[in-house]
Amino acid sequence: MIAANLLRGNYARHLATQGKITEAVALLEQNLSEVEATGYPRLIGEMHGLLAEYRLIQGDISTAEAHARAALAKGGDGNFSLPLVTAHKVLYEAALRNGDVSAALEQYRRYAEADKARLDEIKAREFAFQLSRQELQQKNQAIELLQKQNEVLKLQQEVSQASARNTQLLLALLVMVLAAIGYWAYKIKRVQMMFRRQAEMDGLTGLSNRRHFRHNAEALLQRCAGAGRESSLVLLDLDHFKHINDRHGHAVGDWVLQQVAVAIQAACREGDVCGRLGGEEFAILSCGSDMEAARRIAQRCSEHLAAIDTSVIGRPVTASFGCTTSARSGYAFESMFAHADAAMYQAKAGGRDRVRAYGEGGVGPATVLELVRS
Ligand code: GH3
Ligand code: MG
Ligand code: MG
Repeated sequence: MIAANLLRGNYARHLATQGKITEAVALLEQNLSEVEATGYPRLIGEMHGLLAEYRLIQGDISTAEAHARAALAKGGDGNFSLPLVTAHKVLYEAALRNGDVSAALEQYRRYAEADKARLDEIKAREFAFQLSRQELQQKNQAIELLQKQNEVLKLQQEVSQASARNTQLLLALLVMVLAAIGYWAYKIKRVQMMFRRQAEMDGLTGLSNRRHFRHNAEALLQRCAGAGRESSLVLLDLDHFKHINDRHGHAVGDWVLQQVAVAIQAACREGDVCGRLGGEEFAILSCGSDMEAARRIAQRCSEHLAAIDTSVIGRPVTASFGCTTSARSGYAFESMFAHADAAMYQAKAGGRDRVRAYGEGGVGPATVLELVRS
């Protein structure tokens, strides 16, 4: 009923704006008892207010006044300001038309107060509306800000993930580059070692070549001199090796040289330095070795040479040995070599396949001079 009569009120207003005041009044009065029955002050005040307004327009002043007073009496405690304003306005105009100026003044004052209160209420409502709209806008802005911050955080996360990926890639690249450099360095080192070995070793026998033997021998002599230990040098030259080449070919000669190298290595003690000085000439330098020890080394070599299976060439392999020691020749490699060479020369001259020592049996400085001259 409340909803239906609120609609009827609106419809009556519509009729009034079209000038159909009588119809509007009829509609409202027809339903007034139902409106009163609802006991809803707002509706009752509003309906009486409208009837007061329309009745005044129709010129029915007393009925208009009655409705205005009913609106004031039943329209509630003033919460619904529009019926109050209307009622006071109607009472004011009715008093004016009745010629009651003091009542008109009084009603106008109340009308003005009610209207002001209504306007204040409207302003307050407008203000509250604006305030809440502002709050809503602030909230929306805060939400927008949070969303933007969220987006920024997401972007930061993506950036940090991307940079982490980049770091991983860089690390992988670095590791690969380092591995490549390491592999390259390893390869170069291997090639260097191979070249070095080739430069130091005799290709046929695998023994140190002349240059490397000399280098090792000088280092060993220096150590022995520092430690005050006697050292010996044994030189050996194969006897009539040229005949082997001439009779059996160069390849057999090479094979014999390889067998001789094995035999000489077997005769060496640990720490000895041996090498192929060229052709069929070999040398052994030994630290902590006197002339007796040098003789034993030469003797062992001779026995190992004799043990070579020479059935291919039909005669044993022999060599002539020349020995010296640091006690007789000093620790200088040059002088030891010259003295051992002189002793070997004497061994050749004495019939080959024998051992001669420098400083014994006529082998001395004179032999060296003779050798130099020859
Ligand atoms: P001697 O008893 O007086 O030392 O006589 P020899 O024949 O051993 O000495 P000679 O100096 O007359 O000859 C050395 C030979 O060694 C000459 C050379 O052809 C040979 N020869 C040198 N180097 C090699 C080599 O690498 N392989 C072979 N198969 N023969 C070589
Ligand atoms: Mg020779
Ligand atoms: Mg020879």
